[in-house]
Amino acid sequence: NLSIRLHTVGGYVIGDTVADIGTDHAYLPVFLVQNKKCKTAIAGEVNEGPLSSARSLINKHELSSKITAKLGSGLEVLEGENVDTIVIAGMGGPLITSILDEGKQQLVNVKRLVLQPNVAANHIRKWLFQHQWSLIAEEMVEEDEHIYEIIVAEPGKPSAMYSDNLEKELWMGPCLLKNKNSTFQKKWIREELKLEHVRSQIQQAKKETNKEEKMNEISKRLQWIKEELS
Ligand code: SAM
Repeated sequence: NLSIRLHTVGGYVIGDTVADIGTDHAYLPVFLVQNKKCKTAIAGEVNEGPLSSARSLINKHELSSKITAKLGSGLEVLEGENVDTIVIAGMGGPLITSILDEGKQQLVNVKRLVLQPNVAANHIRKWLFQHQWSLIAEEMVEEDEHIYEIIVAEPGKPSAMYSDNLEKELWMGPCLLKNKNSTFQKKWIREELKLEHVRSQIQQAKKETNKEEKMNEISKRLQWIKEELS
């Protein structure tokens, strides 16, 4: 059984061919092909261990004619391939961002990106904004006490989604800000508590470099959260 997180990620996939970068056990591509959400898939992995788990699962389900497991870092496994959707899930936002940036030349004919950072989604939004990818959907999923963000983007001019405060919207998600459901509330209450904790630690610290700057940054973020929580 696929996790709610990966199930939700899979719901945003379009087209005949999907690449799952950092596939680990290949749960997602196996699910997508089995359920006819795509015809073929590429399962990319940088590490041998997970790649061999991926191959085992693919063989177990007799899907090796439809799912190709490839060893390589990031989007380099897509050289010479033509994919409609790229999924990168279950990694930190900065790592996902560097995979996109280093693999820019593999993105030319890609129709959709489905990205699920475990932390720091703002890095990804900023990169998408700077590289002409438009956010078409965002969703939060809660599973085992974790709250995950899913970011879906397609090629296009992104400016329309962002309105008054770019930095705030990159941080909180322009689509998520339009649909402040209970998961949104929960996530930002948690973040508020974390920031308040960090603030009190900085406040108490005797030697803290750039103390005032850090305090201002935290106050700014706490203010943004306050504006958005009802
Ligand atoms: N995508 C799966 C998911 O969401 O459940 C697996 C997530 S797992 C935590 C992260 C996987 O990404 C690991 O198997 C790791 O080996 C792989 N990985 C890390 N850096 C990578 C890179 N640069 N290119 C390809 N895979 C990478």
